[in-house]
This record gives sequence, C-alpha cells and structure tokens, in this order.
Amino acid sequence: MSLASGRAYLAIPGPSVMPEEVLRAMHRAAPNIYEGALIEMTAGLIPDLRAVARTKGNVAIYIANGHGAWEASLANTVAPGERVLVPATGRFGHGWAEVAELRGIEAEILDFGKRSAVDLDRVEAALRADKNHAIRAVLATHADTSTSVLNDIAGLRAVLDATGHPALLMADCIASLACDRFEMDAWGVDVMVAGSQKGLMVPPGLAFVFFSERAAAARARMERVSRYWDWTNRADPQVFYQYFGGTAPTHHLYGLRAALDLIAGEGIEAIWHRHEVLARAIWAACETWGERGPLELNIADPALRSRAVTALRIGAPHGSALRQWVQDNAGVTLGIGLGMAEPGDPAWHGFFRIGHMGHVNAHMILGALGAIEAGMQALDIPHGQGGLAAAAAEVARGSAVAG
Ligand SMILES: *Cc1c(COP(=O)(O)O)cnc(C)c1O
Repeated sequence: MSLASGRAYLAIPGPSVMPEEVLRAMHRAAPNIYEGALIEMTAGLIPDLRAVARTKGNVAIYIANGHGAWEASLANTVAPGERVLVPATGRFGHGWAEVAELRGIEAEILDFGKRSAVDLDRVEAALRADKNHAIRAVLATHADTSTSVLNDIAGLRAVLDATGHPALLMADCIASLACDRFEMDAWGVDVMVAGSQKGLMVPPGLAFVFFSERAAAARARMERVSRYWDWTNRADPQVFYQYFGGTAPTHHLYGLRAALDLIAGEGIEAIWHRHEVLARAIWAACETWGERGPLELNIADPALRSRAVTALRIGAPHGSALRQWVQDNAGVTLGIGLGMAEPGDPAWHGFFRIGHMGHVNAHMILGALGAIEAGMQALDIPHGQGGLAAAAAEVARGSAVAG
C-alpha cells in the first residue's frame, strides 16, 4: 500500500515542475516555421527574457541544455590558449572550467570547497597577480546547485573594478534565474548563461546566453567562432532561422511564451519574494530537525544560501533511504547529493537536495517538508521536534510582507 497516488512533486533542482499553462501551450500541431504566428511570437520573447535577466543587453538562444550555454559563452569570447579565472564553489564551477579546458583554454581554478562561498579577497589577489591581464574572463556560478551556495556576483564586479582588471564577468544563473535576485546590468555582468528547465519552468532544451556590449566587443576580436555557437546572428537575426542556427525549437518556444507570461503576471520581484519565503520555510524546518540527530544544512550561513535549492547532509545511509521513502510513500522526489562523495563510496548515501525553483508554492513546500518529517519518523532517523511548525511560521510571516 502506498500514499503516493495523486499529483507528484519533482523536487529536484531541475528539471523543475512545469505549469499546466506551459504544458497546454506546447500541446499543439507543428507550426509553420516560415511565416505566421511563430515568427511574431519569437520576436516578442526577447524583451521579456531581457526583463527577467534585468538587462538591456543582447540575448542568444540555443537548442541546448546548460552545458551548451557554457560552451557558447566561451566560444564567443575566449580563444584557445587564453586564460580564465574560475572561482569554484561546487560541482558546477568545476564543470564550466572543464568545458573551458577542453576548448584549449587555460582555467585557473580557485577552489572554495563544498561548503563556502567565493572569498572575494582571494579573487582580488589572483587578479592583482595577473599583471599582464592575461585573464580574459572570470567564470562565476551564482547559485551552485550542488552545494546550494549563493555567490556575490556584484561583489566580483566590485573586485574587478577595484583592481582595474578588464576581464569579462560571466555568471552562471542556470539554477538561480527567476528564483534568486539577479540584476545583470546593475551588477555589471558581461555574460550570463541560463537554461529553460529550472526557474523558467520549461522542459530542458533551451539555453540562453545574455551578453553586454563589452562581451560583443570580445566576440568581434575572436579570430574564429564555429557557426553553431556564434551568437552574432542569433542575437540579431536578419532572417528567422538565424535565431536558432537552423530549425526553431517550435514547441519549447510556445512553452517559454506561456512561462514568460506567468512571470510577467506575477512580477519578478514578487517571484523573488515567494522563493525567499519558501526557502526560509525549508531552512527553518531543517534547522529545527537538526537540533537533534544527523540532519544539517550544507551551507551554515543563511545569507550565503540559494533560494532555489537546498543541499542537506544527513549521513549514510539516511540520505538515500529518505529519498526512496518519500518518493515511494508520498509522491515527492528529492534530489540526490551531487559532488559531495563519489558514487560507489558508501558516504554517497548521506546527502540529498530539495529543489524549490520555479512553479512551487507554499502548500507544495509544506507538503514536501511534511513528507520528509514522516520519512524520518518511519525510518527512525532522530530529529528535533517542531520542524513543520517552524516552516509554517515562516510562511505565515512571509505572507504578511507585501511581495
Ligand atoms: C543545472 C545546472 C547546470 C547544467 O545544466 P544542464 O542543463 O544540466 O546542462 C549548470 N550550472 C548550474 C548552476 C546548474 O544548476
């Protein structure tokens, strides 16, 4: 017997829950890609994407996942043999660095481990040591989805300015866009990469690269950029197919249109507020449970936590057992721990993550937390009492504050 029948909640940090509006918009016959509604609709996506990223800059769309966005960001700006600086705060920083290295780019990695944010002083020292300005770009992860740390992107801009270093500032917002506050222009970001399947609530398959005029100038001095990754025509197409370097991702575009309508209807500030309150509810529950027993938030300082994903440590085998229990008994699928231990190592089973990005509301979060508490009871995992009440109190408090 199971209590899991009913609507499931995929609470992993991407792909995220898809709104009915997005699913319905995608359920249609193949549209004409040469004329008509699709062409007009696509042009209308661009200003709305800019609004979500808080930029007046350019945007190129790729039929790709986040890895494709990483590839595109570097293909347009940094040549083989040149150097980038990568402050890494989890798996995703290292992932972007690997993409750079396989393009023949030298990646200087500053590793901040698995439980800390970027230390701006160390970045400053690395930039000051680079007297000849060989570093072309700083590749920073805004929310690192493996550790759930949130990095200070505006702080990195301040360090670049203070050192007078001309490197481009690049931000990976694949997990954070439309979840954690992000201000591309105000924070002085030159290149920002995002994907469709997290805060934007669309299936995986669209990658976005936003870029400033400074980044466009870096593209102009590149000797060669491969046809597919070149962002020039994508961001300024003369004919429709150039948006996508080939056939348009027709149904994803309809889904994206519906998602951007939802985002505009709610308002980006209200969306950030919703994510903030729901994240606080999760943290409150986890901190209370952690007063007794093995559960612990991976990032101790609330100011350094993402509002899109929460990484937890609970000790092996509890992490895997709890994920299995809530999936089988409550219809909630939690994320695996990522980058905390090697698969095959028994310690791997001691971690899990909660994805709370995009189309999530208070009852989904309170429900997921209730399922986790029930799982800890069923599995005899010791935990502090009152976690759900603490979460409810955060929701009550947050609802009283105008979003
Ligand atoms: C999900 C994610 C990626 C990778 O995206 P894919 O679509 O899986 O290629 C990269 N960076 C961050 C921060 C992410 O959350």
